[in-house]
Amino acid sequence: MKVKEDMELRAALLSDLKNKFARRGEIHLTHLIYCPRKAYYDLTAPQHYDDEQILRYSLGLAWQDRLTLPNPNRSFHVNGIWFTPDGYVESEEGIIPIEAKLTGAKTKPPEEMPHMLEQLKGYCALLGSKHGILVVLHVRGNYRDRKIELKTYRVEFDEEELEKTVEELVRRKEELERCLRENELPPASPQYDWECTNCYYAELCRATERIKNHEGER
Ligand code: SF4
Repeated sequence: MKVKEDMELRAALLSDLKNKFARRGEIHLTHLIYCPRKAYYDLTAPQHYDDEQILRYSLGLAWQDRLTLPNPNRSFHVNGIWFTPDGYVESEEGIIPIEAKLTGAKTKPPEEMPHMLEQLKGYCALLGSKHGILVVLHVRGNYRDRKIELKTYRVEFDEEELEKTVEELVRRKEELERCLRENELPPASPQYDWECTNCYYAELCRATERIKNHEGER
């Protein structure tokens, strides 16, 4: 037997995956819950996902595709913001969105993974629903025995926090639109401490900061 690595096939598969992650062009909820500068780059800068980022992303999407969620991947457009829950349930109270996440973070309560709850809260706020469902696959479990774990949560938000969320999302959207219109780079303000480490634009962002600091010194 002879085994040879097929780099051409690898390149073709990666190129196909990259096309699937092509920029969407409109403002989505996920642009509004993380660093606004990253959102700006996402909407304006040339994409330069590296192979590892593409593979990591596709892993999460492949898992979501295998889940049988009701009404998968329908896009909504509310208050000028696009969003696509992984699924939703129609109930008497309205649409209950479902968010499914695959994470390498160890198993812990969702309150300790606030970005997941923020995304779900955004869906609920824009859909006018007090309830949402979160499904999390912890691929490395609690790290000790590396047992893969599936967690499912029903989350209830109160009306006041949902109203505030809509206001804040609309404010952020309008500010991002202004920055895009006026070609103004938003401040570097990650909402979570891991954001810069995982950011595809970290190099570009650091270079921009260096130029700004250099100009400030002159
Ligand atoms: S590197 Fe950090 S501050 Fe810069 S765009 Fe990315 S997330 Fe924002």
